[in-house]
Amino acid sequence: MLRFAPSPTGDMHIGDLRVALFNYIVSKQKNEGLVVRIEDIDKQKYIDGKDKEILDILDLFEIEYSQTIYQSENIRFHSAMALQLMHEKKAFCCFCSDEWLDGKKEEAKANKKAYRYDDACANLPDELVIDNTAPFTIRINKPTPLADDVDSFVIMKQDKTPTYNFACAVDDMLNDISIVIRDEKHKSNTPKQAHVRTALKYEKHIEYTHIPTIINDDKISVKWLLEEGFLPEAISNYLISIGNKTPKEIFTFKESAEWLSLENLSKSHAHFDIAVLRDINKEHLKMLDAKELSRYVGFADEDIGELAKVYLEDASTTKELRAMIEPIFAPKEIAQEFSEKVVLMQETIKKAPYFEEYDDFKNYIVKKTGLKDEDFNKPLRLLLTGAEDGPDLAKIYKFLKNYIGEIAK
Ligand code: GLU
Repeated sequence: MLRFAPSPTGDMHIGDLRVALFNYIVSKQKNEGLVVRIEDIDKQKYIDGKDKEILDILDLFEIEYSQTIYQSENIRFHSAMALQLMHEKKAFCCFCSDEWLDGKKEEAKANKKAYRYDDACANLPDELVIDNTAPFTIRINKPTPLADDVDSFVIMKQDKTPTYNFACAVDDMLNDISIVIRDEKHKSNTPKQAHVRTALKYEKHIEYTHIPTIINDDKISVKWLLEEGFLPEAISNYLISIGNKTPKEIFTFKESAEWLSLENLSKSHAHFDIAVLRDINKEHLKMLDAKELSRYVGFADEDIGELAKVYLEDASTTKELRAMIEPIFAPKEIAQEFSEKVVLMQETIKKAPYFEEYDDFKNYIVKKTGLKDEDFNKPLRLLLTGAEDGPDLAKIYKFLKNYIGEIAK
């Protein structure tokens, strides 16, 4: 079993989506299940509605999973496991105050040492525990043999909710997880989580893969990319290829399950490069059929889709395409210097017959208005497209000819 364990504490980052994609692909390759675990224990960081947003993104990206689990619903199991550890003298009550511990941390920092809890409360006699009215946490005994990166860390906070590492370790156990794929920022948590399971006498081996973090992604949320007009398929294509050796540059997410190997993933950080994502997006936009593409720009019409394909010469996102295509059908504001010529053309087009070919359309207007060259080209472009530049008019006329009356009105 695999799990994707997002925290509903903000907009989903591209790094999180990348982890979700890899989890899905490996679950397919290994024919294992995938569960989504919403890590919602930290109520202070929890943002209402973010869980739903994350699940919607998983659907949009076609990441299928069998179950959604809310970590907070497992708190009774976390408490039961903590109790078991206490019974077995593998965990103890710690009355050290936050101020005291902060002082110790400062001291370690001043001595340029990593802070480790000094086990001050590890062997308190029961009488001292029972008489103590101060708030307390529960700490797990550090492992024997000693591991430098695992001290006797807190597993239950003073408010009797589990700490992140404890809840995560217990849940991976409860969910029968065998493969964990997660961001490398969690690598240092692995020994602590393994220690919890060992103390609970859980023997199943869990295989970990830590995915190198994507640098520069601080502000890059999945939501933002979608709003900017990147297609889900292009975003997954990019996230799978970044820092990876793939047999081709452009592919669909589902197809990548046939050949993706996490072993080829570079061990160093991947750098987010929007220019590369733009190129990939353009290729995916080209692959859409015309009608589908037209929907992304607000229509449901094959001709408009074909028109959008021509505009792909200068655009890489659906947002950019929309910004080019919408003005064609919107009322146009024509600058003073062109207005006279444009009005003349409008009058001519109103009375003109239908022309199949651009050249015939053009010759007709030239003949009727007497305008030519610069006096002709720019006003006609403005009238038809609402923009001063853009693709060759002959190329776009093909897809506009059925709407000329509406466009030039
Ligand atoms: N909830 C953690 C996160 O969103 C993931 C923890 C894990 O995968 O173990 O970064």
